[in-house]
Amino acid sequence: MCKVIAIANQKGGVGKTTTTVNLGVGLAERGYRVLLVDADPQGSLTLSLGYPDPDSIDYTLTTVMANIINDESIDADAGILHHDEGVDLMPANIELSGLEVSLVNVMSRESIFKRYISQVTDLYDYILVDCMPSLGMIPLNVLVAADSVIIPVEAEYLPVKGLMQLLGTIAKVKRELNTGLKIDGILLTMTNDRTRYGNEISELLKDSYGQHIYIYESRIPRSVRVSEPSALGISIYDHAPKSKAAMAYRQLTLEVMAQ
Ligand code: ADP
Ligand code: MG
Repeated sequence: MCKVIAIANQKGGVGKTTTTVNLGVGLAERGYRVLLVDADPQGSLTLSLGYPDPDSIDYTLTTVMANIINDESIDADAGILHHDEGVDLMPANIELSGLEVSLVNVMSRESIFKRYISQVTDLYDYILVDCMPSLGMIPLNVLVAADSVIIPVEAEYLPVKGLMQLLGTIAKVKRELNTGLKIDGILLTMTNDRTRYGNEISELLKDSYGQHIYIYESRIPRSVRVSEPSALGISIYDHAPKSKAAMAYRQLTLEVMAQ
């Protein structure tokens, strides 16, 4: 049974891509077959996994989605790249924004991504999808295909308004397009022990949402150890295996497995 998890937040810079990489590699280290899907035209996930120039990649998520729109058959593993740390990648680049625009005129435009995902679910135990920072047609497609959502939230300030919008969108998708969709949890990222602000935010989140939404026990500390490896195309475990951030992502991996 494959679980498809969207890593989503319409705010940028909250740790979606970083979490996709390190949760993905964490799951692969535990022996699971993992596919990471870059669903952001910025290609940050593709970049973080060792492809410094995503725009030069010919075969991407755009290619497979375009094929599906045109009713052309594709091999399940077409375009999938393999990373040294045991995860697979479906890359993306700037062409995905063009596809997003053209989706407007397509029949069943919300379920094109789902049609792709359903072709690869047999090959994987987990598929993690790194969403772009918007609530547009591509993230909507991802939510329609997903079993659940993990919402990374930056611990610096309380993102109540933005979260309400995201939760509203998720509720709407659940109502109209994907009744099985669940929220796995909110993940606090970039916490700072020294200011204790992370604790306050965590308490506030629990007060505001904790009754309905799980807040992960694991929190990802703010550290250059986390940001450094993305330029190297490797995970935190490869770059700084003993760091607090690596421990935090390992702990998150266990929490996600337990769900
Ligand atoms: P998003 O995908 O939500 O836009 P990213 O994962 O790309 O967010 O993170 C935004 C920036 O912050 C990146 O430069 C990343 O390397 C950095 N970053 C992410 N998590 C941490 C962290 N825990 N500590 C320090 N920097 C981080
Ligand atoms: Mg990103």
